[in-house]
Amino acid sequence: LRRNAGEAEFHQAVREVLESLGRVVAKHPNYADDALIERICEPERQIIFRVPWVDDANQVQINRGFRVQFNSGLGPYKGGIRFHPSVNLGIIKFLGFEQIFKNALTGLPIGGGKGGSDFNPRGRSDGEIMRFCQSFMTELYRHLGEYTDVPAGDIGVGAREIGFMFGQYKRLTNRYEAGVLTGKGLVYGGSRARTEATGYGTVYFVERMLGTKGIAMEGKRAIVSGSGNVAIYAIEKVQAFGGKVVACSDSNGYVVDEQGIDLDLVKQIKEKSRGRISEYVALRGAGAHYVEGGSIWDVAGDIALPCATQNELTGHDARQLVANGVLAVGEGANMPCTPEAVRIFQEAGVMFAPGKAANAGGVATSALEMQQNASRDSWSFEDTEARLATIMHSIHDRCAETADEYGVPGDYVLGANITGFVRVAEAMRAFGVI
Ligand code: NDP
Repeated sequence: LRRNAGEAEFHQAVREVLESLGRVVAKHPNYADDALIERICEPERQIIFRVPWVDDANQVQINRGFRVQFNSGLGPYKGGIRFHPSVNLGIIKFLGFEQIFKNALTGLPIGGGKGGSDFNPRGRSDGEIMRFCQSFMTELYRHLGEYTDVPAGDIGVGAREIGFMFGQYKRLTNRYEAGVLTGKGLVYGGSRARTEATGYGTVYFVERMLGTKGIAMEGKRAIVSGSGNVAIYAIEKVQAFGGKVVACSDSNGYVVDEQGIDLDLVKQIKEKSRGRISEYVALRGAGAHYVEGGSIWDVAGDIALPCATQNELTGHDARQLVANGVLAVGEGANMPCTPEAVRIFQEAGVMFAPGKAANAGGVATSALEMQQNASRDSWSFEDTEARLATIMHSIHDRCAETADEYGVPGDYVLGANITGFVRVAEAMRAFGVI
């Protein structure tokens, strides 16, 4: 705790994993050897750097950039870049730590890392975004490589930002190294279905989880927080399974549409005009309403998919959802439910899918993008999505089997933590003390 003072989110993420590991150590005492657990909690490398850039008013702006290269036991560091004013070292470390186990769960050869900056993209022009991304990459490029560290997008970083960063990497290195970033545009080495992968993957996981109790998604009412990349494609897949999403949000408020969210309209507002979800009501016409502030979790639903940000769903929200009869919760975002909320869901018998398992579809498809880049190939949408579905089902099944093996059937938190940990631990033990 002293070594990582003030990093509340990092402590929270580590505590959750360590709480699951007691059962593994009891069963396999050798995992306590060689300070393996202590080593896994310490990042291999942390890079913090200055990002100077010039805004449209010709003023010099300074931001702080981060890349935490947490664990390369299973492959090159892999994890997204986040641009949001709340970013600090503790946030990047929590995300990097989660990423280690998530990436291990995919069964693909990728280590764990995360990066970002406290830069706020909201309201910035394309020119400002480009200059910021170029400056960010001007330092970061020396730490990357397809065999070293392969970033992707996250909050505030989508195809536009990845394009600017890839262009700068190529310019600085004089190498067309497609496998150095994922989430690229299709014309320069991106993978089909990567944009959709995290949201789709979360819904594939939840659908499989509901299936263990013989429940279908068809006809169910769903609440999805956020209206960014993960939320949009989670909504799309719930609708494809015959569910009805009645609410979504952004950081200012939420919309409720009892006829079912009009996803084309949300895409137009968020993806095309980069607007606010409050604009939905006027464009949709009668039937929908907008609530400024407040909690989207006051809206009743059978399925809740928090897809915005960490700690967005509190104990109070969880009690409200349980009182309203929620059946299943799937974390599309990273650590969106507070520890108290998770406990309330589990005690109430609500099926709960933790983010490191349920949102692993994004990074899994990033690893598929790396495979396509390495073989200079490009797969069809259907083929890529079919692989994503298979990966999500197998992550689900492995988590469920591990929970059974450790005597806590249906505890996907424990199942995910132990399954991911064992895979990384085996690799680290093979390498000796490094
Ligand atoms: P986006 O930037 O595309 O969207 C984020 C959404 O969450 C926006 O609607 C945003 O609203 C809202 N949001 C962000 N911060 C806050 C906040 N502090 N309070 C309330 N709402 C907030 O990001 P993504 O969809 O890519 O990421 C969402 C979550 O999913 C994150 O936790 C991310 O780490 C996780 N994730 C993403 C993956 C990916 O492939 N993109 C992969 C795995 C996990 P506003 O516009 O108002 O800021």
